[in-house]
Amino acid sequence: MAESERRVCGGCTACCKTHGIFTLVPQKMPGKWCPHCEIGKRCRIYGQHPRECRDFACSWLLNIGAGGPDYRPDKTRIVPEHKILPRIGLSLWLFEVSNGALDLKFVRKWTLNNLRKGNCVMHLPLRAGPKLYLPQRIQDQEFNFVIEPQMQTVEVIWFPESELAFA
Ligand code: SF4
Ligand code: SF4
Repeated sequence: MAESERRVCGGCTACCKTHGIFTLVPQKMPGKWCPHCEIGKRCRIYGQHPRECRDFACSWLLNIGAGGPDYRPDKTRIVPEHKILPRIGLSLWLFEVSNGALDLKFVRKWTLNNLRKGNCVMHLPLRAGPKLYLPQRIQDQEFNFVIEPQMQTVEVIWFPESELAFA
């Protein structure tokens, strides 16, 4: 990556709300601000923060298919993360920072574009359970959709309903 393309979190602290940090005591649950976060500024325990936090980089920070510089997660209110899921392959996870952000036009566009490329897309709203949208290439309805042990039940939306929801 060229030096000019390097991205930094700057004042973004969005993933300190969206992601669970299970090695903190007490555990920090997904969708709640971390008690150590000075929102929009910094981590108050930076340097002693958990490895889960140190190792995390969202897809915007990594500059992989998550929009240009203006799409920093504190501005879009969506934290994007790419994950490889067993038997499913590449999936784009979109974590909501503020209620309603998953309804924004750019989210609909990203979701549809990814489904058409054959990628799965997971939406993680703040006030409802996660929804997994599947592309046409996945037809095996015997999949076991226990995606992560701590995750509540995932609603699975099969093709073509998955694409129709965003067309
Ligand atoms: S959401 Fe991305 S840009 Fe924002 S603080 Fe987390 S890793 Fe950095
Ligand atoms: S410990 Fe620090 S980096 Fe980790 S979630 Fe809390 S505020 Fe964010």
